[in-house]
Amino acid sequence: MRKKAPELQYLETLKTRTKLSYQEQQQLEADQKGYRGELTIDRLTKEIIVAQTPIIDDLNLQVDGQRVQLDKLVQIGNRLYLIDMKDYHGKYIFRKRTWYHNGKPLTHSIFSQIERAHDILARIFMEHNLTIEIVKVIVFTDPSAVIEIEDQSEIVVKYLWEYCEWLQKLSQSASKQGSGSLPWQQILQKYRVAPYRPETDLTLDSRQLWQGIRCPRCGNFWWIQKHYALQCKKCGYCEATETAYVRTICDYGTLYFRHNLQVGKLTEFLGKGYNKQYLRKILAKHFVPLNLRSRQFSYQNQGEKFEYWFSNESQYFNNLKRRTTWGK
Ligand SMILES: [Zn+2]
Repeated sequence: MRKKAPELQYLETLKTRTKLSYQEQQQLEADQKGYRGELTIDRLTKEIIVAQTPIIDDLNLQVDGQRVQLDKLVQIGNRLYLIDMKDYHGKYIFRKRTWYHNGKPLTHSIFSQIERAHDILARIFMEHNLTIEIVKVIVFTDPSAVIEIEDQSEIVVKYLWEYCEWLQKLSQSASKQGSGSLPWQQILQKYRVAPYRPETDLTLDSRQLWQGIRCPRCGNFWWIQKHYALQCKKCGYCEATETAYVRTICDYGTLYFRHNLQVGKLTEFLGKGYNKQYLRKILAKHFVPLNLRSRQFSYQNQGEKFEYWFSNESQYFNNLKRRTTWGK
């Protein structure tokens, strides 16, 4: 599963608790559009290639202090396709080694990111004595984009609709030839790192946040407390109290990703009407404790939304959900 980038998770969570600035809103929309484009390519790729095709989505690598993010790697035949996805819109022309956007020269090359990623991969493979040809591919996911490439380039550039046809042909010809088993996935795992995060979280932001547990269906913050569940006063949505607390702790963790989880701060985040003892119980039950000897007892912060942080526990939370609907 391709996860939303930390920045997108942060902005989406922030939007549910305060008014975003103009820049934040623009960034959020751009990130959401980019993510949708990536999911589309993931889905189409899966539909086209054969089931056993070796593939890695969204890989962050670090080599000698240098960091690089790769959108997608697919091995077809004995070639490794390094795929970079761009959701640019407007008209782009590549002429005499320069990129132009709507007629104006760009200060950076659209090719530079993929060139760098290619060089880092090539170096890793060389150090591990792995011979595999790496093919650089850029796919433009926005259907309104117009790309003209006048110069020869060794980078394959495709629109989304061309990409499908191109991939299909590759996949068909490779299945006739067969492909070797090459250990590129295992080698790259050694260099894998967590996705990039900005230096600062929400700590120094002076905006007032809406406190409490937020209804995931309608965004309201007012609940009727039932025996094991909370029921939204506005839309009637029912959620197990345990899930609601865990989900809200994850919201806090996503916004304050530079900090550990502490009862005091979480109590503030929850606001009035919530039980500190119950919060302690939930933290002890679901989160990983840190610095046990310190007076400031705290828990590990993964800085992710509930759906990712607790993706391995979905069965447990689904069972809780069933319990809230008993007798209805
Ligand atoms: Zn609601």
